[in-house]
Amino acid sequence: MKILKCPSCQSYGLQSSCSCGGERIAPKPPKYSPEDKYAKYRRMWKHDLDHHDP
Ligand SMILES: [Zn+2]
Repeated sequence: MKILKCPSCQSYGLQSSCSCGGERIAPKPPKYSPEDKYAKYRRMWKHDLDHHDP
């Protein structure tokens, strides 16, 4: 489920048609997502384990 944002009145909602008559659009995604960050750490952690594995 994606949250849409109306550029006209800055309101958020799930429906593409806003109550102000404008059309809601998907807000721009952030430069990085927390999930990516964790995935990176997870990869590093795994790499570290592999490296120190006897
Ligand atoms: Zn609106």
